[in-house]
Amino acid sequence: MIERVCLVHYHEIGLKGKNRSLFENRLLANIQHAVKNKGLAKVRRISGHLLVEQEGGYADEEMAHAISRIPGVARVSLAYRCPLEEATYCDAAVRALGEVATPWESFKVHARRSSTNYEKHTLEMNQIVGAALCQAFPEKKVQMHHPDMTVVVHAVQGDVYVYADTGPGVGGLPVGTAGKVVSLFSSGFDSPVATWMLGRRGAVCVPVHFSGRPMTSDQSEWLCQDLVEALAPSGIVGRMYVVPFGERQREISLVVPQGLRVIMYRRVMFAVAERIARIEGAKALVTGESLGQVASQTLENIAVVNEMVSLPVLRPLIGSDKQEIMHRAEELGTYQISSLDAPDCCTLFMPRRPETHARAEAVHEAWDLFDHDAMIDDLVATMEYVDFDQCPAYKPPRDLRARHRELAPIEP
Ligand code: ATP
Ligand code: MG
Repeated sequence: MIERVCLVHYHEIGLKGKNRSLFENRLLANIQHAVKNKGLAKVRRISGHLLVEQEGGYADEEMAHAISRIPGVARVSLAYRCPLEEATYCDAAVRALGEVATPWESFKVHARRSSTNYEKHTLEMNQIVGAALCQAFPEKKVQMHHPDMTVVVHAVQGDVYVYADTGPGVGGLPVGTAGKVVSLFSSGFDSPVATWMLGRRGAVCVPVHFSGRPMTSDQSEWLCQDLVEALAPSGIVGRMYVVPFGERQREISLVVPQGLRVIMYRRVMFAVAERIARIEGAKALVTGESLGQVASQTLENIAVVNEMVSLPVLRPLIGSDKQEIMHRAEELGTYQISSLDAPDCCTLFMPRRPETHARAEAVHEAWDLFDHDAMIDDLVATMEYVDFDQCPAYKPPRDLRARHRELAPIEP
């Protein structure tokens, strides 16, 4: 019987020496979680790959595509699995090569054997399968160097895995192998992309969104949820925090000089995000800032906001152009959602002329014009959260309320 299975290839994990099994186990658990609704799929290790098999043996393109989006996956091959019999694996090779969708002219066979006592040598297997393929595709040519297609015939124990086509994965590292980060998340283009980039490097991402509620509708909150859903197949987000900020922004806007409002909002946002990071056990903050993109993203303004926090602030897009970010958003499926306009805390009480090069002294004076500590405490106490089921590596804080009280406010 010939079955279809997915073979998952990973490369970066291979470099991690002693951590290898830790990384493999994490990737295995993440894939298992992602395919759990797909025909009772099971994931296990075989000889340097992960194998995803469904009951009945009918893995398909859709499953291969879902797996390809999981961080840590370098490539996915939809393979035929058949018994270790010459005629059967030759037949599988003919099928695999015949199904390749892109045009090709040349091919070679790459036979491998792992943990098997099959009497045939790989050289012999190459010749046998090559002859069958030459017969099936007489107009194509065999080419050892840089062929268009390589047909892999991999004998493992009593089975053979055969594939010709292989699709790229997103690469990176399995989510959960790089700790946790809190990501400042708006419904714009940048922060979902920034969040995904950290997720792809193995971090569990906890987005926090500041909404303009009650001064605006809750539409930006819904857009943020949609964005998290769009990123969900990668399994990077377990929980999102929402902080209604409208009322506090109004208070700030009434007392600080107009040009410094945005900087004050952002200092409060960073402080609250850091408190959430302490509660969650996250080790860094993430933003979608890109140098010079808007007034708040000049070096001076980044500095006076950054001084609020002691955790590292990661800005994976700092050197990216908007075009590149939008292109990435399209690939991730967040572009359409981010194009929808929703008022959030950023659009609320915006000054006509925001300060682009704030002086630290002026910022500190403005900061003391309102009771910032009480405001930060109050925002942390009234924040809300939404849980998502797609991140098996996410561990919620054991007792949010109790840890809240324990956490002393962070000194600015
Ligand atoms: P984005 O496209 O991500 O909204 P932006 O171009 O609108 O970014 P800013 O509004 O200056 O730029 O925001 C810079 C960064 O600050 C964002 O990428 C995000 O990390 C954070 N941020 C902005 N608005 C919010 C918000 N309402 N809630 C949480 N974080 C926010
Ligand atoms: Mg924004």
